[in-house]
Amino acid sequence: MKVIVVGSSHGGFEAVQELLKDEPDAEIQWYEKGDFISFLSCGMQLYLEGVVKDVNSVSYATKSGMEKKGVHVFIQQDVIKIKPDYHEVVVHNLVDNTDRTEKYDKLIISTGAIPVKLNIPGNDLDPIYFMRGRDWAIKLKKATVEPLIKNVVIIGSGYIGMEAAEAFAKAGKKVTVIDLLPRILGTYLDSEFTDILSKELENHHVHLALGQTVQKFVGKSNKINQVVTNKGIYDADLVIEAVGVKPNTGWLEDTLELNPDHTIKTDQYQRTSQPDILAVGDATLVTFAPTDQTTKISLATNSRRQGRFAVKNLNKPSKPTPAVSGSSALTIFNYHFASTGIKDATAKDYHKKVSSVYVEDTYRPNFIPDNQNAKVYFKLTYDPSDGRILGAQIMSTADLTANINTISLAIQQHVTVDQLAYADFFFQPNYDRPWNIMNIAAQKAQLKIKK
Ligand SMILES: Cc1cc2nc3c(=O)[nH]c(=O)nc-3n(C[C@H](O)[C@H](O)[C@H](O)COP(=O)(O)OP(=O)(O)OC[C@H]3O[C@@H](n4cnc5c(N)ncnc54)[C@H](O)[C@@H]3O)c2cc1C
Repeated sequence: MKVIVVGSSHGGFEAVQELLKDEPDAEIQWYEKGDFISFLSCGMQLYLEGVVKDVNSVSYATKSGMEKKGVHVFIQQDVIKIKPDYHEVVVHNLVDNTDRTEKYDKLIISTGAIPVKLNIPGNDLDPIYFMRGRDWAIKLKKATVEPLIKNVVIIGSGYIGMEAAEAFAKAGKKVTVIDLLPRILGTYLDSEFTDILSKELENHHVHLALGQTVQKFVGKSNKINQVVTNKGIYDADLVIEAVGVKPNTGWLEDTLELNPDHTIKTDQYQRTSQPDILAVGDATLVTFAPTDQTTKISLATNSRRQGRFAVKNLNKPSKPTPAVSGSSALTIFNYHFASTGIKDATAKDYHKKVSSVYVEDTYRPNFIPDNQNAKVYFKLTYDPSDGRILGAQIMSTADLTANINTISLAIQQHVTVDQLAYADFFFQPNYDRPWNIMNIAAQKAQLKIKK
């Protein structure tokens, strides 16, 4: 059997790894249009901040390493067309500018997503950068140490915008973050958390310009000087656009059925509308566990899970890809936070009626000295009709983010607040209190439901 995998990031890498295990006799061809395989954008902030020194180490695998395992790796080779009736792909070699066709028995697509570019006047000025992939990582790293770049304007206050803001603030730049929404991280956290984080950012000299729309970029001789919004004008020697991503599926429009948001339509086995073609990663949708509906959640975890299940279902659709809850975590200066599932702020997007309880406590018992204790902020969201757990958010200067993985499992397993209220969690004063914060929140939810 000959399997072609297109795209060498999280989804593609996982598919290849699983093929090596599950289909040891398969001929594997792995295509990447860039000149490097398996760069991990997740590690970009660590590289920009100098924790990781070598950009090339921010990857899962090397071309030569994978070739030693028997994988045929093709870089700078763009798969530009699929001919499903012939089980063929057309490959454009970016080095010598030639095209050739390759036959496949099975085809796995993980061509991911690309950053959205604002379509406004001045968007051809320089430097306007994006934060995704190795090429942008190298350019951004240079910008962190470029003395002529003093004012950095970041557009978008999601995870990627926040990572960029922290990296450039730590590099000594004057950072402004602009967002259309009135709160940072609007889809990840509710206001109890973002109010604290906004202060934390301002304390570290990151200026927030929220609730405003970017209208144009202004500059001279091709060089950007200012970003103009409906509410202000901001000096800019560098702009980083982090306003979201769009699926990289333009080349598939005539071949595969796409969803209205242009992601590739797949079933729960990662099969597309064409036989023997599977798709995974940011170019597809996932099943959202709190609602059992498909939705777009661009995460490496989802891409890897789908990559693995695509291979499990390669010959026979037998193992549906498990539903996910969009669990994610981040650190902003001194605060660590994580969230999963539905929040009050996102409930309307899922047409869900939800109820939430919010708990503030210290994470260790009161007898622990203040300088070794810390506040913890926790919010649990559930369905008021049956008490099913639907989401949670946690934040502290101590790293308590792993609790969110417990809630993610609770969502997946349809756990209710009654079950979580008395779930057996350990107590040891170095780590927590006799009642874990998740127990306390669920007990509070029980009372609220009773009333
Ligand atoms: C800055 C940043 C930080 C992140 N941090 C996290 C994190 O901490 N945790 C987390 O879970 N997620 C994180 N993510 C999200 C995660 O990186 C993505 O969800 C993941 O990369 C998606 O993987 P993918 O395989 O779908 O595609 P992509 O990563 O988009 O990669 C697609 C690959 O396919 C190649 N390609 C595209 N078209 C073709 C073609 N026609 N022929 C050949 N090759 C092609 C591209 O060049 C690219 O290398 C982060 C993303 C960014 C940008």
